[in-house]
Amino acid sequence: MAVKKRTGEFFDDLEVMSAEARKKYQLEKLQQSVAHAYRRAPAVKEMLDRAGISPANIRTVKDLEKLPITRKTDLIERQKARPPYGGFSTIPPAKIDRVFISPVPIYEPIQHEGIRWFAKVFWAAGFRPGDVVVNTFTYHLSPAGILFHEAIRDCGATAVPTGTGNTDIQVQTMHDLQATGFVGTPSFLMTVLKRAEELGYNVMKDFRLKRAWFTGEMLAPSVRQTLENDYKIDTYQAYAVTEPGGALAYECREKSGMHLMDEYLIEIVDPETGKQLGPGEVGEIVVTPLHNKNWGLIRFGTGDLSSYTTGPCPCGRTTPRLTGILGRTGDAVKVRGMFIVTRQAEQVCLDFEPVARFQITVTRTGQRDEMGLKLALKRKLSAREKQKLAEELSQKFQNICRLKPDRIDFVPQEAIAEEQPKIVDQRTWK
Ligand SMILES: [Zn+2]
Repeated sequence: MAVKKRTGEFFDDLEVMSAEARKKYQLEKLQQSVAHAYRRAPAVKEMLDRAGISPANIRTVKDLEKLPITRKTDLIERQKARPPYGGFSTIPPAKIDRVFISPVPIYEPIQHEGIRWFAKVFWAAGFRPGDVVVNTFTYHLSPAGILFHEAIRDCGATAVPTGTGNTDIQVQTMHDLQATGFVGTPSFLMTVLKRAEELGYNVMKDFRLKRAWFTGEMLAPSVRQTLENDYKIDTYQAYAVTEPGGALAYECREKSGMHLMDEYLIEIVDPETGKQLGPGEVGEIVVTPLHNKNWGLIRFGTGDLSSYTTGPCPCGRTTPRLTGILGRTGDAVKVRGMFIVTRQAEQVCLDFEPVARFQITVTRTGQRDEMGLKLALKRKLSAREKQKLAEELSQKFQNICRLKPDRIDFVPQEAIAEEQPKIVDQRTWK
């Protein structure tokens, strides 16, 4: 199929649908996907039958709560019990173009026609015809390399399949081909740039690198700053998960959260109950592919924690945005119904200059969860300064984590060791 010529900011009309149109579109696709998977994938039929519901019972997105969440461990178990696809493949074996292997392994049957829309994550990052893009993700034993390669091509850009490692050859390739784009992890791009400098290149003069697309690793704000300010490389992040088939959310030029792809139905749920949560509430990202006709995955639990916002984005895209990946479900502790995640607490506490370390202790008095916050200070503060710090920090904690600490205690720096856990749950459940 020829690459469709696109112009303008948006990859397709889905990105700018009205909230009402999106609701209708997603529900329709969801109902089709569940019905398709039920008919074709024995594992999905078993799951729905066990829950006592038929595809006709999925009348709203809320109805998805009636279905269990399938996690990576469930997929592995099912594929072992019923090799090779665990009863999740919805296409006859002869129709499978390729098989993606995710680490562990998990086998996923693919027809490429099903994943062309994936290119929108690169389009939003500005990849266009004329760009020469080195793809440093691995091309074997992982879907990443080939999936991103084809998405780069679907934007009309030239893809250079360099794969991982071989830093010196990467430097040479990027120089010789005058590459304008980089796809990989932030740490690998930093390694390549540093190596180029060691080899005597002046990155700004000898290279033409102008944009980079990252996934698979957190882009630290300091690294982003270095790349954008020192090297003038525009950076974009995406959130990708291999099992449901690719990138689920991506940054636009505003770089303020990641727009959700309309090709997936994404729920943020309480990982303990599977119930859906509202905007701003932290929970597990659960995914149901809406356009994948070869893989009957319904409610795949990623184990990643995030929250979403429905606020308008100045870029013009109307999709809700993930506010960032906050950690894994194992890193979170539920306090008075809200999840407290280490990374969020860190973001609040360490933003105050006198704070060196912190530790949260969760206890239970009667029927109430109590959250104590210990702050280790870098230097001595007066009683008044401490009170002011406690008040401001408590308010920020409420704004970001949606809970206020019940008490704040100041301790000397050595009272909290570097390796101590940041959140300690002392509640006992009888
Ligand atoms: Zn945007």
